[in-house]
Amino acid sequence: DRGALDPERRIDDSDHGLRPQTLDDFTGQRASRENLAVFIQAAKSRGEALDHVLLHGPPGLGKTTLAQIVARELGVGFRATSGPVIQRAGDLAAILTNLQPRDVLFIDEIHRLQPAIEEVLYPAMEDFQLDLIIGEGPAARSVRIDLSPFTLVAATTRAGLLATPLRDRFGIPLRLVFYTAEELRLIVSRGAGKLGMTLTEDGAEEIASRARGTPRIAGRLLRRVRDFAAVGAPRDRAITRVMADAALSRLEVDSIGLDSMDRRYLLRIAEHHHGGPVGVETLAAALAESRDTLEDVIEPYLIQEGLVLRTSRGRMLGERGWRHLGLTAPASAAT
Ligand code: ADP
Repeated sequence: DRGALDPERRIDDSDHGLRPQTLDDFTGQRASRENLAVFIQAAKSRGEALDHVLLHGPPGLGKTTLAQIVARELGVGFRATSGPVIQRAGDLAAILTNLQPRDVLFIDEIHRLQPAIEEVLYPAMEDFQLDLIIGEGPAARSVRIDLSPFTLVAATTRAGLLATPLRDRFGIPLRLVFYTAEELRLIVSRGAGKLGMTLTEDGAEEIASRARGTPRIAGRLLRRVRDFAAVGAPRDRAITRVMADAALSRLEVDSIGLDSMDRRYLLRIAEHHHGGPVGVETLAAALAESRDTLEDVIEPYLIQEGLVLRTSRGRMLGERGWRHLGLTAPASAAT
């Protein structure tokens, strides 16, 4: 087994069976998928490395999956690491010098790369060169190493977290968006098939509509529904909407897919701040969560769904947020 701090890491493939393997198999993200298909085709026909790709968007939307698919469609090797595990410039240098021509290097959470290591990445991305300092003090000298042309596929939750010079070095920036209920229904139905479950159409719909627009959550809910069904019902019996609903309710996933943390967040703004505005730091402290978790994991979906509004003075509960909580906005609250 490889240590947690090993700069090169394996992708968690505990769900190997559910991960789509080709672009055609990848549901949703139509704009990104179509663009990638064109650029991959073009790079292949020229026999060149694909331009560097930046994937940004909330967790669980398929960034890692797409990175793997890009390598497979290009027919090249795939190496993965992540920003926080690269501790020293030498770690990154070792990974880069081991790449074969046109390989894909995937760096997850690239926004957490240390600035000194980012500096190593710039010439590598731009000219496929490494500038390394060997030795120390007066004996130190700089050596330049040529790298094989490669494609960096990087993932981040928010593009705005990257320094501009880094962001500008990606020829293909792609923003991933939340999935529609219909896309998730397809993903859930296919996933059920791969897991050998029998799931009715409306059972799949129920899980999809409560998956927070996120395939990773859809997959997790699907497995939990299967667990409850396995215990509560005879084998081989199809899983219906009623059974899915019962399982999801026991998991405290509400009618629109919010979990207990989402509801605590909404209630906090409603009850302690009369609907806001309230600063994100204040909310983070009250909920004992990091600001990053609120901004990267919790808020994007609540904002997209109109439950929460982000204003210059802080977060506010949206009209839909009040309604979902079954509360009435105070007369003074803007909506
Ligand atoms: P990210 O890197 O953005 O956090 P991942 O690529 O790890 O997300 O995907 C999370 C999970 O969702 C994986 O189990 C993956 O198989 C599944 N998944 C993501 N996108 C899709 C998709 N378009 N179709 C089917 N499953 C998907």
